[in-house]
Amino acid sequence: MAVARFSISTILLCGVLAPAVAASREPADTLYFGGDILTMRGDKPEYVEALVVRAGKIGFVGPATEARAFTGAAARTVDLGGKTLLPGFIDTHGHFVYFGKNLVDADLFGCSDVPDLLARMKQQAARAPADGWIVGFGYQPRQMKDGRTPTIEELDGVAADRPVMIVDSSGHLGAGNAKLFDICGIGADTPDPAGGSFARKAGGKALAGPMEETALNAVRSKRPPFTGELADAVIKGAAELWARHGQTTAMEAGLGLGSDDIQVVLNAIDRNLLPIDLYIAAKDSTVDDTLSAAYGVASAYNPKPDGTLEKLRATRLDLDRRYVNRVRLGGIKFWLDGSLDTAWFTQPYTTNPPGKTGSYSGFRQIPDEVVDAAFDRFWPTEMQIHLHMNGDAAADQALSAIGKAVRKHGMRDARPVFVHATWLRADQIERMKTYGAIPSFLPSGIVPGGDGVLRLWGPQRAAGSLAARTFLRAGLPFTFSHDAPVSPQPWILALVDAGTNRTSSSGQVIGPDERISPYDGLRAVTAMAAYQLKEEKAKGTLEPGKLADLVILEKNPLKVEPTTIKDIVVVETIKEGRTVYRAGR
Ligand SMILES: [Zn+2]
Repeated sequence: MAVARFSISTILLCGVLAPAVAASREPADTLYFGGDILTMRGDKPEYVEALVVRAGKIGFVGPATEARAFTGAAARTVDLGGKTLLPGFIDTHGHFVYFGKNLVDADLFGCSDVPDLLARMKQQAARAPADGWIVGFGYQPRQMKDGRTPTIEELDGVAADRPVMIVDSSGHLGAGNAKLFDICGIGADTPDPAGGSFARKAGGKALAGPMEETALNAVRSKRPPFTGELADAVIKGAAELWARHGQTTAMEAGLGLGSDDIQVVLNAIDRNLLPIDLYIAAKDSTVDDTLSAAYGVASAYNPKPDGTLEKLRATRLDLDRRYVNRVRLGGIKFWLDGSLDTAWFTQPYTTNPPGKTGSYSGFRQIPDEVVDAAFDRFWPTEMQIHLHMNGDAAADQALSAIGKAVRKHGMRDARPVFVHATWLRADQIERMKTYGAIPSFLPSGIVPGGDGVLRLWGPQRAAGSLAARTFLRAGLPFTFSHDAPVSPQPWILALVDAGTNRTSSSGQVIGPDERISPYDGLRAVTAMAAYQLKEEKAKGTLEPGKLADLVILEKNPLKVEPTTIKDIVVVETIKEGRTVYRAGR
């Protein structure tokens, strides 16, 4: 796009001012024009001719002539050349830190079979530090020819004298070699932890290699910490990818899955590594450690509050200093059930998942008392509660806990997040409305998961899954999220595409009545996403006073064939007026 500076007066001024004074001047305004500028304000598309960025915020939106009057002659002007300018996309459920760590591990996505997986792990063994673990992430056993996780012996073949660990794309299943179990102190006599299991060899207790859920988490928590350049690489690598997909706000929805996560984020704060904002929800078991780290950061970085600041905070969330060097602790995360084949339902599966017999209705992660206690503690605070749930029994557990908290503490603007909320009953949606709960739908339940959902859950639950249109009709907010690395990339436009088309991998439309317009799909990753984060006063729409968090797309998602929305190129991502990603750079 054309960038012109027409500022003779600035050049003349610079000639007479001392360099130090010139450098401290506010940067000139930037005026965008010449393309579709979609504000995302309101339920119907609204376009404006021009937008002005001033000092990191949106200074003006409206007619081009007024924009020029607003800026004066010194502005930098950007001709969009027919491209589309939108609010920067907001990640409402992703795993930014976790993903960043995977970037330094072997990429096992798309492994065709066990030999392919083992070959990739041998390459990783050659490049990983000699004193570190050899880790690979992202294999999908059901999509592999042999349809299974490698054995302990096969992983010994990668390296017998160093720990080897693999984790599947869902993060719920993995496997290790003998050295790994050895250094973690796990053997044949180790009992399975509650909520997880170590696979055993037939007819005995000897470890077979694979492990699930809490057993896997126990092993992963023993991984040596990421420090120094490795810790920097986690944050920088993830930030580049998130910005590449147009996001100006990222989320880590489970800080503490790795024992060094807090240190990795503290390092990012201290070294000011983040070009985009990062909202953190602490994993349930690490919430106290995360809170004390956050208090440490707040007292180190925030000046003592005075009365003026307090008053500003009450009216302007963007001025409340919640972000410190682009990081804020926003909430806490609980897991109530499993994935699409272990979702916890009130009614049994239509077809049992492989290996399940009898009347199977899924998997409960934690007792009611734990969820109740969490709401009792956090409902009256600023900490948002995020609850992973796929089935309606899990939603019942959440709603019951919220009901108790409301009876005890009264109604609050708590905006609890129902993460995935893949299948909800109509009566549950009514209660979510009462409590202000917001679903963050995961459209990978349709692409690529839709055919599996249809088979396992039956046509009725599949058709009503991810009930975006039902929420719209009820006037309720919802968001779309990628849950990366559960989705292999933090790819926002693919979410809009999937929510608009609901076409599964085999080409079936799953639940045509729940399809929404591309505009509403975009709202789910901008305006409604900002609302979910309680940041709607600062983000989500193009309005004066909000942050200049912007994305420029090659084409307008509202003007292309809806099945091609995901293919639209992100041209540039801008965080508070500064370019943080540009295509082809
Ligand atoms: Zn997640």
